[in-house]
Amino acid sequence: MPFKLKMDPASVARRERYSVRMSDPDFKARKLATNKEWQRNNPEKWNKALTTAVRNVQKASKARRDAAAGPKPERCPICLLPFTPTGPRKAVWDHNHRTGKFRGWICCFDNRMLGMVQDSPDTLRRAALYIETDEARNPALPWQKRTK
Ligand SMILES: [Zn+2]
Repeated sequence: MPFKLKMDPASVARRERYSVRMSDPDFKARKLATNKEWQRNNPEKWNKALTTAVRNVQKASKARRDAAAGPKPERCPICLLPFTPTGPRKAVWDHNHRTGKFRGWICCFDNRMLGMVQDSPDTLRRAALYIETDEARNPALPWQKRTK
């Protein structure tokens, strides 16, 4: 489903009128000069406005990206635990670091784990073999349960 930014009709009309007025070079020069002066006289407000604008762009970009990724599954495909709204089991957008392409939704904890092994399947296989070899040599007693 393509992402569409929702704007009320009044805002769309105001933007359109502003765009037409800004095509006049004299108006544009006056407007930019006035804006620059306001920015110089109100540095705190200007910084706050910039921060808000950057955050809104980031929010829209993230919403577009999440919409393109499709629906989130209920569980992490790696640890199989259900996603939670916050914390280490929160669903995060995982991507291939070589191609930059979306791989899937996984939990925050497993995303960090993949980052720590630098997305290396060989490292993960050796880690599994390491754990399995130890467990074959030193089997756990019946009451020493695995946590996962
Ligand atoms: Zn997980």
